[in-house]
Amino acid sequence: MSYDKLKKPIEYLKGVGPQRGDALKKHLNIFCYHDLLTYYPFRYVDRSKFYQIREITPDMPFVQMVGRLTSIEVVGQKQTQRLVAKFTDGDELIDLVWFKGVTWMKKSLSVGPEYIVFGKPTEYNQRVNIAHPEIELNTPANRVLNTALQPVYNSSEALKSRGLDTKGILKLQQTALEELKGAIPENLPDSIIKKAALLSHDTALQAIHFPPSVDMLNKAKNRLKFEELFFNQLKLLKAQNYNKKQYQGFVFEKVGEHFNTFFKEYLPFELTGAQKRVMKEIRADLGSGRQMNRLLQGDVGSGKTLVALLTMLIAIDNGYQTCLMAPTEILANQHFATLQGMLKDMDLNIALLTGSVKKAQRDVIHKMLEDGSLDILIGTHALIEDKVQFKNLGLVVIDEQHRFGVQQRARLWKKNDRPPHILIMSATPIPRTLAMTLYGDLDVSIIDELPPGRKAISTAHRFESSRITVFGFIREQIALGRQIYIVYPLIEESEKSDLKNLYEGYDVICREFPRPDYHVSIVHGKQKAAEKDAEMQRFVKGETQIMVATTVIEVGVNVPNASVMVIENAERFGLSQLHQLRGRVGRGADQSYCILMTGYKLSADGRVRIDTMVRTTDGFEIAEVDLKLRGPGDMSGTRQSGTEDFKLVNLVEDQKILSYVRSIIIELLKKEDLDANPSYKMLNDYAVFCQRNTGVWSRIS
Ligand code: ADP
Ligand code: MG
Repeated sequence: MSYDKLKKPIEYLKGVGPQRGDALKKHLNIFCYHDLLTYYPFRYVDRSKFYQIREITPDMPFVQMVGRLTSIEVVGQKQTQRLVAKFTDGDELIDLVWFKGVTWMKKSLSVGPEYIVFGKPTEYNQRVNIAHPEIELNTPANRVLNTALQPVYNSSEALKSRGLDTKGILKLQQTALEELKGAIPENLPDSIIKKAALLSHDTALQAIHFPPSVDMLNKAKNRLKFEELFFNQLKLLKAQNYNKKQYQGFVFEKVGEHFNTFFKEYLPFELTGAQKRVMKEIRADLGSGRQMNRLLQGDVGSGKTLVALLTMLIAIDNGYQTCLMAPTEILANQHFATLQGMLKDMDLNIALLTGSVKKAQRDVIHKMLEDGSLDILIGTHALIEDKVQFKNLGLVVIDEQHRFGVQQRARLWKKNDRPPHILIMSATPIPRTLAMTLYGDLDVSIIDELPPGRKAISTAHRFESSRITVFGFIREQIALGRQIYIVYPLIEESEKSDLKNLYEGYDVICREFPRPDYHVSIVHGKQKAAEKDAEMQRFVKGETQIMVATTVIEVGVNVPNASVMVIENAERFGLSQLHQLRGRVGRGADQSYCILMTGYKLSADGRVRIDTMVRTTDGFEIAEVDLKLRGPGDMSGTRQSGTEDFKLVNLVEDQKILSYVRSIIIELLKKEDLDANPSYKMLNDYAVFCQRNTGVWSRIS
């Protein structure tokens, strides 16, 4: 059985045609039959019961009745004009009322035939009536559409005006399912269907649009969720398997002189237990002969950078070059300064390459990369320009990768015959389910322990009325020799009003903390790089005590002496951003504080975000809450491609199915060569079909 019929363009379906076809494409991304069938209802209304008019009271939710119209009249003048149809079930009467589309409704209704009416009862002039009910002839065809559980589809005004309201869409589903009867291929192998006790693919599609019972609906949902997760995980786990088998990695077999010297002489502290464990995991990868693809997750300040440095030293000891990519110039500069500082007494060549590096210097760097004399290159995406050629790049470290596109990573790859080992560092903790779906092709290491001696950051929520007290607190902290961040929201760096807020805030701070006793830095994304850098440096050197900034300081800035983070309009920030910002303090030995300033009016979500921040500093816990609030699509700018595939799956609720699916696939891949065994051919067929599917492609462009 092939997918040709499911691939058929939607305009060919009876009842669609070119105009509705265009509307379906434009508003619902429905391009072919398959897109339609996987456009699932978002809820169901129970229409199993028919009511007698005398049973109906205004407090009831939706009710359904069968009966006839006895009169159809337009009443009232201009503004109050409405259509009133008297409806009877043979026993009592009830008014059906329309305020809109009066002329059209009047034409389409008639006295005599039997109708099915469905709507919400309300009280009007001490009588019950129903405004704008759904009404249709009681014909066998319409009865089929009125199944016990009536699906409800998302639609839009534009679609409704073309007759594609929820009923219209359901009608199309019915037509498509009839036309495709017996022609919907099964996409899972028998063995798995049996093992997981699943409905067949076509039964499930039929039942999700026309559920004969609640039980069948649940089975259908379960099957279709299973399937979504199955193909998502299959792709990732196959890719991982393939990488492991196929790509020879450079073998870094020894720990050599540089690593040992650094470890013995220059490492300023003991590794934490978590750092040691992660180093072991990385070393196993590097010695395995396979290419490493590892995600290193750890909260801000957990010591990922040090792990990266140690890994780089191993690469260098084995005769290879390494590079570290950062998402912003500020971060690249900071990494460069940190690493240069830590390696200053060692015989290694390390350079920084960003957009601001001058041509002459750039040429020198290019040359040193090509002749192999440069050991470590740090930079922004200037690193993946075509001109940059390494002699023998063996390891790439990517910091905060969620800001690097997948394609950018691919470009880096092409610079070698053999792919370099890749270590991705992420300070955005990702809930387990998301990690499995987004990074299912990567191995994951987690640093779940902070370096010793850190005191937990104390977090408080304060309203505007406490500002004076907050300023007093800041003065006390400065008197103790500490430094302060005050962050303003600037969601889009171009928003003028936000920038105005920032400058107003800056003026207030300068007045409250006047010279010569106090000095204040200001940093935002609209500044020239040099100016920004100068302001930043003043703060780093301790020449200024307060830094007023936007979220440009979110990532990576490391000033251990800064102990207070004040976040203005904290309700406007997302959870992961708040967490990142808070991570800027608590880096030294002193007790640190985070103060979340908000107005009195907080949305429900805003309140949950603030409460969560006050309650916990655990990044993974915060990420779970974030996932629940925002849904996976919006999560912290993580790699999106995985989650868009899910139409039914909810990563918060469906964790169990996900784990189950994953375990089944891992077992399957161990036992079978799916590409060689004809019993599993349907898996590849379906994956290919989904990839080629017109809808999916046009969605990308
Ligand atoms: P991350 O990159 O995970 O945010 P960093 O590597 O920047 O964290 O480390 C944060 C701070 O903690 C740095 O000042 C670093 O020198 C220090 N640090 C890292 N590992 C340890 C350790 N094992 N013991 C003490 N301090 C450490
Ligand atoms: Mg870092």
